[in-house]
Amino acid sequence: MGTDHSTVSAVSTPHGRGGIAVIRISGEAAVAVADRVFFAGNGAALADMESNRMVWGAIRYEDEQIDDGMAVVFRAPHSYTGEDTVEISCHGGVFITQKVLEATFLAGAQPAGPGEFTKRAFLNGKLGLSQAEAVIDLIDAENMEKVRLAGAGARGTLKRAAEEICLLLRDAVSSTYAYIDFPDEDLTDMTREELLSAIDTADTRLCRLIDSYSLGRAVNEGIRCAIVGRPNTGKSSLLNALMGEDRAIVTEIAGTTRDVLEERINIGRMMLRVSDTAGIRETDDVVERLGVARSIRALSEAEVVLAVFDGSSEAADEDRALLERLADVRCPVIAVLNKADLGARRFVADTGCSFAAEIAVSAKNGEGLEQLRASLESLFLRGEIDYHTEGVIANARQYAAVCAAREHVRHARAALCEGFTQDIAGMDLELALGALSEVDGRAVTGEVVDTIFHNFCVGK
Ligand code: GDP
Repeated sequence: MGTDHSTVSAVSTPHGRGGIAVIRISGEAAVAVADRVFFAGNGAALADMESNRMVWGAIRYEDEQIDDGMAVVFRAPHSYTGEDTVEISCHGGVFITQKVLEATFLAGAQPAGPGEFTKRAFLNGKLGLSQAEAVIDLIDAENMEKVRLAGAGARGTLKRAAEEICLLLRDAVSSTYAYIDFPDEDLTDMTREELLSAIDTADTRLCRLIDSYSLGRAVNEGIRCAIVGRPNTGKSSLLNALMGEDRAIVTEIAGTTRDVLEERINIGRMMLRVSDTAGIRETDDVVERLGVARSIRALSEAEVVLAVFDGSSEAADEDRALLERLADVRCPVIAVLNKADLGARRFVADTGCSFAAEIAVSAKNGEGLEQLRASLESLFLRGEIDYHTEGVIANARQYAAVCAAREHVRHARAALCEGFTQDIAGMDLELALGALSEVDGRAVTGEVVDTIFHNFCVGK
């Protein structure tokens, strides 16, 4: 992952018609490139202009003025990328913006790839990898909770939490080095007890971070949810009621919800990724059977299942078959007894199945939906977390790194407890340090970095 010396440019505002558009140029030659495109009204070259000050001027394509707008110079290292950067704001027409961008290419810039500005910020040490990931999450956020979580991540809360544990581990490792150099002398910085205590502190903090992923996942990535039940129990209606708008197709003909639809629904502070399914039941219809196969897959991949029954009628054979199948499901299952407006019979209570909750609802009049939402939240959002002070793991990559670190820390502890010398524990602690460093990318491969930045749009 070497530093790239090229100068790149891209439109950093969304493509489309708008009041203004911003073209960002970054790299060693950014100011020189901009000076060939932008001509300040006061006659001064951008190269002679103060940093961080906006100036009005003419924008030229070859020798012709095509627009006027504003420019600002950010000088390395005090810019988003850490390199010299110029941002030119022009009128936000699709064509004019493209022309201004082309003018920067003619002046010597190269087109920036997806996420290239943020990738440069990372390579130049302006951002940790977890912060860069949080920037993508912030751009993708569709609710306030995700804005809060991603905002804290972008400001470096998780990075700092990981760094603090790294510091603890580093002290412990260096103490074990002293042991390797002088095993017979009492020269280690830490006694065996102090080393154990440092390991325990690191373990506690790692566990707390690992626990935070329950929240991070629920808010950021969304919990995979399968809605299952025999046809006509009201699965599509329930999905619509939870979404608050008519998205899935509701019909009165049994078995017509054939596709597994994925919908993202805000449930209080968390997000649910709901697969509405064709319902699990035996069928001879080929198309419908495909839907059933998919719904069985959705069930096996789900992190929570909403099993919908028609609570106003007696249990049917298909309900019993579903209940049997649900007995094998590992994730929490909420029994939703729908059609409460028609009067509830609560047959599920007699089946011996253990549900995380049993809730009578009416998809028709909204009864019980708040209770269902609260029940879902309580399954995944345990306790309060202060985003400003506590690091929260926001994705599977970060989670894997922290889990690996905890494994190594536990090995180190076991080694000490089994009577091995400190240097043996030290090797495990070094591995833990390596794993934890991946949270912020100091130890990740170029390939992982490229994958992350490809999720960005061009211009970010
Ligand atoms: P699905 O096949 O399980 O997806 O069921 P649908 O959502 O298509 O609903 C089947 C039928 O039940 C439709 O006629 C709905 O209007 C009706 N229905 C759904 N939920 C309720 C409810 O809570 N109360 C009443 N009375 N009818 C409902």
